[in-house]
Amino acid sequence: MPKHVPSMPRRKAFELRNVSKKFGTFKALADVSFDIYDNEFITLLGPSGCGKTTLLRMLAGFETPSTGSILLHGNDIVGLPPHRRNVNTVFQSYALFPHMTLEQNIAFGLENKKWPLDKIRARVAEMLKLVHMTQFANRKPQQLSGGQRQRVALARALAPEPEVLLLDEPLSALDLKLRQAMREELRSLQEQTGITFVFVTHDQAEALDMSDRICVLGDGLIQQLGTPNEIYENPENRFVADFIGESNFFEVTIKRFNGKTVTISTPFGFDVTTLHEGTKPKDTAIMSLRPEKIGIAQHAIGNLMQGIITSRSYMGGQTHYVVKLGNTALKVTRQNEASGNSGFNIGQKVRIGFRSDDVRIFSQ
Ligand code: ATP
Repeated sequence: MPKHVPSMPRRKAFELRNVSKKFGTFKALADVSFDIYDNEFITLLGPSGCGKTTLLRMLAGFETPSTGSILLHGNDIVGLPPHRRNVNTVFQSYALFPHMTLEQNIAFGLENKKWPLDKIRARVAEMLKLVHMTQFANRKPQQLSGGQRQRVALARALAPEPEVLLLDEPLSALDLKLRQAMREELRSLQEQTGITFVFVTHDQAEALDMSDRICVLGDGLIQQLGTPNEIYENPENRFVADFIGESNFFEVTIKRFNGKTVTISTPFGFDVTTLHEGTKPKDTAIMSLRPEKIGIAQHAIGNLMQGIITSRSYMGGQTHYVVKLGNTALKVTRQNEASGNSGFNIGQKVRIGFRSDDVRIFSQ
């Protein structure tokens, strides 16, 4: 199914309006409003306790909002039990029936919905094929690996053709290699079926890799909603810049602001002018700069400075350095491109630089 074409109007799957959730006096979610579109892969991303599972459970019908409304294709679903919503959930724990074969597991929901037998048979075969599990149709869940079980759980959840599939950290029980392989499978399943996927994770790499849009949650609030590129390249606040990827943060003073650009005095002894639209920053602000946007030695570009390497961490594809510049220190990441090049050593003097355009400014 083709992904969204920008000129075409988009149909909303879910509409959340001023949704909040309190547990006793504790506010897990505060005034959350946003839309989820048909055929979208959207990820709810945030640290532990930010409210992402609570939000997913409200979409599923396992929790009721304390205030606000949730519409599914235009119909108010608050108060509607899970089985009366055309929505299915895939859990981290798979939740397969251990005494049933894979075929029976997948058929279960269709039998409950009183599908005719021949339609059930065809749909089960189609789903097993979709998740590459046809040869295991007669096995029971305990005869499968974790990754295979999760594929069956996906097949079972997709079988009744839900309008939306909710996925609650479905990959977190799998090892790293399998998680990476499953990311591709999930993405491809979403594209093949055209079903809206709402995916919950605290893993930023998963979110960046798979999502059409990411909703970053923190402290029960939406911190930012945007494409992976928007979220990573133009974080709206320090929380997002800190949670997604790595950043260097410095307190800076604002010297000039003209509505489009801002000039700051940096801790490196020179001023930087960078794009900054919106409201006028206060007298002091936070400057953020990604480690991979900084060049070292022959890569040095823009504002050149002298520094000394104080720490080095070799990660295979990349090396992470800490470079001391007077009283400040910068985290710098370099790709290890040439196999004979061992990079820089601790104690080595280097020139480093960055482009003003890569500096982001946040209020405190
Ligand atoms: P994690 O990644 O650790 O699962 P999360 O972002 O999914 O975290 P939630 O499970 O949504 O977080 O919980 C949000 C907050 O609400 C947490 O502080 C949690 O302790 C609290 N909370 C969740 N469910 C309940 C409940 N039934 N009763 C009381 N507090 C709850």
